[in-house]
Amino acid sequence: MKRSRNVKIVATLGPASETYDTIRALFEAGADVFRLNMSHGTQPEIAEKHAIIRQVEQDLGRSIGILADLQGPKLRVGVFANGSEELVPGAVFRMDLDEAEGDLTRVCLPHPEIFAALEPGAHLLVNDGKIRLKVLSCGTDFADCEVIIGGTISNRKGVNVPDVELPLAALSEKDRDDLEFACNLGVDWLALSFVQRAKDVFEAKGLADGRAAVLSKIEKPSAIERFSEILDASDGIMVARGDLGVELPVAAVPPIQKRLVRKCRAAAKPVIVATQMLESMIESPMPTRAEVSDVATAIYEGADAIMLSAESAAGSYPIEAVQTMDRVAVEVEADPTYSQIISASRSAKGDTVADAIVAAAREIAEKTEIKAICCYTQSGTTALLTARERPGVPIIALTPLARTARRLALSWGCYCVLTPDQSRFKGAVVGAARAARAGGFANETDQIVVTAGVPFNVPGTTNILRVAPCDERLIYSTDPE
Ligand code: ATP
Ligand code: MG
Ligand code: MG
Repeated sequence: MKRSRNVKIVATLGPASETYDTIRALFEAGADVFRLNMSHGTQPEIAEKHAIIRQVEQDLGRSIGILADLQGPKLRVGVFANGSEELVPGAVFRMDLDEAEGDLTRVCLPHPEIFAALEPGAHLLVNDGKIRLKVLSCGTDFADCEVIIGGTISNRKGVNVPDVELPLAALSEKDRDDLEFACNLGVDWLALSFVQRAKDVFEAKGLADGRAAVLSKIEKPSAIERFSEILDASDGIMVARGDLGVELPVAAVPPIQKRLVRKCRAAAKPVIVATQMLESMIESPMPTRAEVSDVATAIYEGADAIMLSAESAAGSYPIEAVQTMDRVAVEVEADPTYSQIISASRSAKGDTVADAIVAAAREIAEKTEIKAICCYTQSGTTALLTARERPGVPIIALTPLARTARRLALSWGCYCVLTPDQSRFKGAVVGAARAARAGGFANETDQIVVTAGVPFNVPGTTNILRVAPCDERLIYSTDPE
């Protein structure tokens, strides 16, 4: 199950992708991480998908990352009697606090704080801004709106109110409950929606208490302003272009995406580019040229991962969407311009021993014929530093911890192998050579680079770099114990 690309693919699961067969097919087509959106689907439904993913993981013997996306203070409409309605421009549509199912004339918007803050003339944007409503009149429990831009409105679609400042807490009661639930399930990543400051991240990290890594979704203007402190506090970042493109002018999104991807790489933290990457594939087996270009751009920029939302969760062609991303990635990464761009955007290296070792490993890979960089890692940090170098050969991350392997599923180029605890140097080199051969990265006559730390099993001690043969007899006859 070796991928022939370095960028990772995140696939959101939903009604279109909830069976064992589909989830397994998505993984086989190229999905490295599955996203479970806590905004859609109940906890038992999420638990069921989680169990299926772990079953696929066991059956295929490959570590799979699971990301639980917490809803955050996202405003959403309620549900419709018919599931969805078609809003036409010029029509009047009411949002209110009535929990009854919606129809063509009204729907519930269960957020009293919005009605308190709304004024006539304000705009409500629905479904990542696809539908635009203008408030004609409003009270404490309703708003009558004119449909300015129409479209299909369906169950639980998100609502943005860019003209109005709303007092929102980072983690709602539901989020705290979902966070605890997801950590107990054993998810690898938590995504926080609408992060505005580092404090929001610290709060979630405190609650997760090391059980899951925490990724911040950047989708608010304030998160852009405070990006450095948020990046410092987070284990990873998602450029959540859906809400970002509503909260900010849509034309501001591409330069922000470029900047954030670069900063994340410099910080050796994984970054996902998300939303509408192959949007037309919700309904069509063929993407548009523009979408293919968008996927390619994220890869050229050096993103760790690209993501599918509704395409894999609720679309008609989830597997084709993953295959499309995979094919675009293979094509882009084979382009000599790609390596030039990736290498030109490498940041100055840090000044620790580990920084120097990963940079040396990459230089050896550039100048010689080694087939892989094999790094022993406990917390995953050495693998992340190696990934930051974006070397031209595969990164094989060897770890005794399933948790570390699963988290690294999100990181550029990391092929993770679970390995028993190593206590001796020779054993570690043999283990790396075996992993490289078993994964199909090298054969007996090839050489690899092995990085490790002595003493073994003490995090943060990377201090050894060995250019090793893959032939075990040679290792046994040459290497010290
Ligand atoms: P977010 O802002 O967190 O991305 P979203 O509403 O955009 O929330 P996505 O996970 O990006 O949700 O998925 C896009 C769309 O796919 C959703 O709006 C929804 O219509 C559909 N969808 C996704 N997951 C599910 C699910 N589990 N059940 C039903 N529909 C889903
Ligand atoms: Mg969003
Ligand atoms: Mg979305």
